Amino acid sequence: MQTHNLGYPRIGSRRELKKASEQYWAGKLTADQLMSTGKSIRLQNWLLQKEAGIDLIPVGDFSFYDQVLDTSLMVGAIPERYHDLMQRQQLPDIDLLFAMARGYQQDGYDVKAMEMTKWFDTNYHYIVPEFTADQRFSLFTNKLLNEYLEAREAGIQAKPVVLGPVSYLLLGKEKQPGFHRLELINRLLPVYLQLLQKLDDAKAFYIQFDEPCLSLDLTAAEQQVFVKTYQEIKSRFPGLHIILASYFECYGQNLSTVLSLPVQTIHLDLVRCPSQLDDILATSFVNSKTRLSLGVVDGRNIWKNDFQQSLYLIKKAAEKIGGDRLLIAPSCSLLHSPCDLDGETNNAVLTPEIKQWLSFAKQKIQEVVTLRQLATGEYSADTDRQWKANIAAINSRRTSPLIHKPAVKQRVAAVTDGDTRRQHDFRQRKITQRETLRLPAFPTTTIGSFPQTAEVRNIRLRLKKGEITPAEYDTLIGKETATAIQWQESIGIDVLVHGEFERNDMVEYFGEQLEGFVFTSNGWVQSYGSRCVKPPIIYGDVSRPAPMTVRWSSYAQSLTDKWVKGMLTGPVTILQWSFVRNDQPRSETCTQIALAIRDEVLDLEKACIRIIQIDEPAIREGLPLRKENWQSYLEWAVRAFRISAAGVHDATQIHTHMCYSEFNDIIQSIADMDADVITIECSRSQMELLDAFAGFQYPNEIGPGVYDIHSPRIPSRTEMTELMQKAMDVIPADQLWVNPDCGLKTRAWPETKAALIEMVQAAKELRQAV
Ligand code: GLN
Ligand code: ZN
Repeated sequence: MQTHNLGYPRIGSRRELKKASEQYWAGKLTADQLMSTGKSIRLQNWLLQKEAGIDLIPVGDFSFYDQVLDTSLMVGAIPERYHDLMQRQQLPDIDLLFAMARGYQQDGYDVKAMEMTKWFDTNYHYIVPEFTADQRFSLFTNKLLNEYLEAREAGIQAKPVVLGPVSYLLLGKEKQPGFHRLELINRLLPVYLQLLQKLDDAKAFYIQFDEPCLSLDLTAAEQQVFVKTYQEIKSRFPGLHIILASYFECYGQNLSTVLSLPVQTIHLDLVRCPSQLDDILATSFVNSKTRLSLGVVDGRNIWKNDFQQSLYLIKKAAEKIGGDRLLIAPSCSLLHSPCDLDGETNNAVLTPEIKQWLSFAKQKIQEVVTLRQLATGEYSADTDRQWKANIAAINSRRTSPLIHKPAVKQRVAAVTDGDTRRQHDFRQRKITQRETLRLPAFPTTTIGSFPQTAEVRNIRLRLKKGEITPAEYDTLIGKETATAIQWQESIGIDVLVHGEFERNDMVEYFGEQLEGFVFTSNGWVQSYGSRCVKPPIIYGDVSRPAPMTVRWSSYAQSLTDKWVKGMLTGPVTILQWSFVRNDQPRSETCTQIALAIRDEVLDLEKACIRIIQIDEPAIREGLPLRKENWQSYLEWAVRAFRISAAGVHDATQIHTHMCYSEFNDIIQSIADMDADVITIECSRSQMELLDAFAGFQYPNEIGPGVYDIHSPRIPSRTEMTELMQKAMDVIPADQLWVNPDCGLKTRAWPETKAALIEMVQAAKELRQAV
């Protein structure tokens, strides 16, 4: 029985890579210095895994930006718009990589970045490969070989990890009509074979092919491409030991194809899909020689492994196929875990009791090794100590009163269908709301946040450092809020916002005020490039000890006769952007959060806030990878939103907001949320996203974003009226609002002001025109 790891976080335990990359971009570090930061992170990671006792240590999991982009460079899939830069500017590889990732705007060039999208259902973003019909591939970089040699020199038994050719193609996009990207496999495969030849020459024995698309619904033809590809690889390199890895879901319908592939080891994500072990052990697979990699340690979450549960799975497999056909592993790459729990020393909220329940990447590596020792009976006194400590920690989590609040559980159990329904249906609410709110046609509003300027962030920082008192802090934030209210009033916006100056982050702000959440000081996870996030940890039953937003909302409302919109983050988004409990279904945790938000909504209503927005930008990204699981997710997600919103009177108007959303396939669920008004990101798609609503005859009100807030560009009035005209082609005018695409926190004031003034004028023109 061996141990291996699928990938280790590459950002460095103190975010060294983030800092070095950003300094390099700012011209404060040379390329050599950046390279040496990368090298030292790799070495540290390898040694850490070696010292822990991992048998097969991954190489190639390191990246200066993204592993999919690395693969594009490796196979020479460099879009044409970068060719000039490459040839005439002789851009070094690292700069070419960053140009593709971030765009290139210097020396008279203005070349756009490649598109970025979410990596399966994680919050990691990869750079989407671009393919043309006449796409050619060639072995362009030797990154993988070089890192393999570098590891070998450092005395590491390295296992190269590469994104498999089929998933690589599937994850990309055709940039022209008339072909399907999988047709390129015959041109791509020779490049992979060349790479394998080099690794073979360098005496690599193991290689891990990541083929995560095997977690998706595949057609029979797509499955056949997998079969042919791996047969070809096997026939060319019969001696190479291939570990095929997929994760985040069951193999499902693809299982029999996977079992038929000529590979030596198949990895199973037993955290997401423990049942597939039984499925496999019930087939003639048991009589083959293929090995199984048991992914029992959760690479996507921060909980300590339950050794008893993992050993149960490992022993079951060992009894059927023998321990020497097994490898123990994390469920997926540890890229999605924070680096090291030992980094949480200055953290007052992470008490020893809570800390003993957690495990970050470094600890997970240790868990993998200990599990192997326990399974093989290679006991030392230390193994024994870890076994006992594990049982104690798991038991403490099962029963701790810090986690389990009977009152919260009872309240969730007592939720009725009535709690998910507004007093009356939308048609009737609309009449009541028109009477109370008295808004003009095409009401104007914004999505919530105003620029988080250096001064605003500094106010929060000074409070945190104790340089100002809470009272001084309130005064300063109050001033920002008052200025924003006055300015919105002066330019004639109809529904105002308080500006969210008091918020660091739309989830953290609520997490900090809810019970059941803790925060790490160093639990960073890569989101994209140098950007890292620090998700809150939901460890216990969630409740709301006190109102969270009423003070700032009422203060803002007290300054004006116009309506000020209350601003909340919805339960699904809070869930989606946190590390979530694994001791109860996600739906249960989500309902708990929904009840806390419901109380907040009712308190806002009591404080005379008549319009309340509950942001749910993450509804769509929570969709399961397989369509068969969509319905049940959508049911509980929509129900949670409705629980949070439905307690108010008809006259109170509930808004929701979503960004980056393609709604076509989930439009029924969006309608089922029954928000009185939904604002969505629309401008970059030229209002095309609205087609989903139009086709469906969506009955409630909609604010399609009329300008892109991701760029400092100031849109013209005509541009915005034209977009609204397009919207009116498909949605009746009396359902429409006028607003930007999203919150304005990343913008500066000058462009924000200029753009909103134009937007208000655009709405006035529209009113005159109809
Ligand atoms: N109210 C939030 C804001 O304006 C919404 C952000 C989001 O949709 N991601 O910042
Ligand atoms: Zn948004």
